[in-house]
Amino acid sequence: MLRIINFSFRSYRYFCFQIYFTMKVFKFGGASVKDSMAVKNVASILKRYSSDKLIVVLSAMGKSTNKLEEIVAAMKTKNIEQFTLLVNELKDFHLDILDSLFIEPHSDIYNEIENIFKTIRKRFDEPFSNNYSFEYDQIVSLGEVISSKIVYAYLCNQKFSCGWSDSRELIRTNEKYQEGKIEWQKTEELIKNKLLPKFNNEDIIVTQGFIGHTNEGHTTTLGREGSDFTAGIYAFCSNAESVTIWKDVPGMLNADPKYFSNTIKLDQISFKEAIELSYYGASVIHPKTIKPLQNKGIPLFVKSFIHPDDPGTIIHDSTNYDALVPSFIVKKKQILFSIRPIDFSFIAEDHLSDIFTRLASSGIKINVMQNSALSFSIISDEKDACPENLISILGENFKVRYNNNLELVTIRHYDQETIDLVSKGKIVILEQRTRKTIRLVLK
Ligand code: ASP
Repeated sequence: MLRIINFSFRSYRYFCFQIYFTMKVFKFGGASVKDSMAVKNVASILKRYSSDKLIVVLSAMGKSTNKLEEIVAAMKTKNIEQFTLLVNELKDFHLDILDSLFIEPHSDIYNEIENIFKTIRKRFDEPFSNNYSFEYDQIVSLGEVISSKIVYAYLCNQKFSCGWSDSRELIRTNEKYQEGKIEWQKTEELIKNKLLPKFNNEDIIVTQGFIGHTNEGHTTTLGREGSDFTAGIYAFCSNAESVTIWKDVPGMLNADPKYFSNTIKLDQISFKEAIELSYYGASVIHPKTIKPLQNKGIPLFVKSFIHPDDPGTIIHDSTNYDALVPSFIVKKKQILFSIRPIDFSFIAEDHLSDIFTRLASSGIKINVMQNSALSFSIISDEKDACPENLISILGENFKVRYNNNLELVTIRHYDQETIDLVSKGKIVILEQRTRKTIRLVLK
């Protein structure tokens, strides 16, 4: 939609005619572009929005990011057989998609994809630096580049009015590779100056999630599953009217269908509730996505790419609908550590400060914590928290005991019925209750 919202005479000699577009940001994740049928489905969704200006943020196709991670591992260990096998598999995967999208040979896009794979191959012969995260970002980022190039080529072929933009020139981050921190002011300036003017000529701009660049022009990534966040960044910086994340589920559900039957779709929830749910581990949207949207009051829709006409979930300012149904978040493979000062002294501020400083340097992320007079307990994901590592980090002043293979269940807006349901047949090892949330560590 094109809106002319300001017609102002700056002086008698000239006038200024400002044109603003309202636009929407769409994000399509890996599952929504996992094969040629899925790409065609994306095009059919975009057709429904032909009167809108759209920034389309894409993830890597299917499970390409995992494959690229394996490729980086093979580069690091200089395992040429493994590297060649993986690169060929990834290339064939994309060529198969191209072959079924384009009936006539489309040399341009084939050449572009070929060139990206040449770059990957060439990099194998170059020294793998000590900075693993840097090397990771230079390679793993290419999944999004390939995906966006293929979708863009297909949309052009289908006569959409569209352009392609490179997030490696628009999203500015610091130099924390694999977890780039956004430099908002610069990013906003780049998006306003380099991306938005493209809407004068095109209706859709295709770009990549997950990736950015440093001041020196090196590629960075924003952390796994970071494309939702990218959609939030583009929306914030371009003052979009809304963001839609297209998923393979009907919207945000009150529980993960993997663990619970009879899940209920949440029709509307507040930004605050969405942040709480994603903080506790609900995996539908990346936790960082909400803040920029909340800050500007930009609504977020989570919709099904399989049933695009269904309403999905809307995440917005109103908190009126948050408490309608309890929501459950389950985290498996949890480990509980009990940390006790060896000299039988109380757990007080000095101990806590010491423990936290040591934990911060270990990279262990705390999911729940609790203390008693003599002991401080934390629950973490098993994969991030090796007991031997923690024991050595805490040193000889603390005794550490642990219990693994636990389950952490968080219930928002709980009632006794839901507590009984999730804890049936299990032992409750730890419980924390506030007015709106209960957290149970179960064995
Ligand atoms: N492709 C990246 C990943 O799989 C980013 C994303 O899809 O959000 O983690």
